[in-house]
Amino acid sequence: PGPAAVEALQHADVAGLLPRPTAESDKYRRGVVGIAAGSDRYPGAAVLAVSSALHGGAGAVRYAGPAAAEVVRAHPEVLVTQGGPKAAGRVQAWVVGPGLSDGPEAERTLEEALAAGVPVLVDADGLRLLARRGAAPRAELLLTPHAGEAVALLAGAGVEATREQVEGARIGYARRIAELYGCTVLLKGSTTVVAGPDPAAPVRVNPTGTPWLATAGSGDVLSGLAGSLLAAGLAPVDAGSVAAYLHGLAARTVGEGPVTAAEVAAALPAAWRGVTGAA
Ligand code: AMP
Ligand code: MG
Repeated sequence: PGPAAVEALQHADVAGLLPRPTAESDKYRRGVVGIAAGSDRYPGAAVLAVSSALHGGAGAVRYAGPAAAEVVRAHPEVLVTQGGPKAAGRVQAWVVGPGLSDGPEAERTLEEALAAGVPVLVDADGLRLLARRGAAPRAELLLTPHAGEAVALLAGAGVEATREQVEGARIGYARRIAELYGCTVLLKGSTTVVAGPDPAAPVRVNPTGTPWLATAGSGDVLSGLAGSLLAAGLAPVDAGSVAAYLHGLAARTVGEGPVTAAEVAAALPAAWRGVTGAA
């Protein structure tokens, strides 16, 4: 096959994809997203992913993990699940990985989410666990690696590459990982690109990014947001694209200068209005 076709994400495309509630909507129809994230070491990753899912339009967020106390203190709206994803009530999409750590408990969490029969976003530690299992086609997956995590995913599929090689050919490697894992890949970094499992479809490039997003917790915010869009029913490739677009716009909404991940999450509703044209 020749080089992958590429298309820049357009404002109008994103506006057309944003899920909007109707008179018939209830919180379940708007989408319940399950977040399996955080650990004793990284409780904040769970708080950020949950915050972002709430600000990103989820009807409800269920949290499964060891940081429930921190999560509920920050966001009393959250439903807490005792036990892993298997024990959770209704969930239309899972987000697995931010700050999760990679022990046996985390492994079980990933297995349960993958067995839930709903779309699953895998990020951060979840990606390293997934790479350890090896590549198996799963169309309902959305993987959100940065270059280092992309290297681990490639290695899990028997492909050797360095971080530098991935950084130097982001579109080609996103395409490659999407093919190897038979799913959608959102490769994060200076330019974020989204490749779906269909090799004939163009790779989407996000134009809204800003290097101010290179800040701790930023990826956790992207994950929670994309998870809420998956739960609302967007296809993985659309959920990833729209999330990357809003994430960049939200950082710019905070201002041209340093931003914290929590500020980016809190600015998502304003970014949303910026896309829909609402006042
Ligand atoms: P993570 O590495 O998981 O914390 O994710 C970092 C987030 O910041 C991703 O959404 C990246 O796309 C974004 N990011 C990191 N570095 C840059 C950069 N130099 N320019 C634009 N966005 C970036
Ligand atoms: Mg990350």
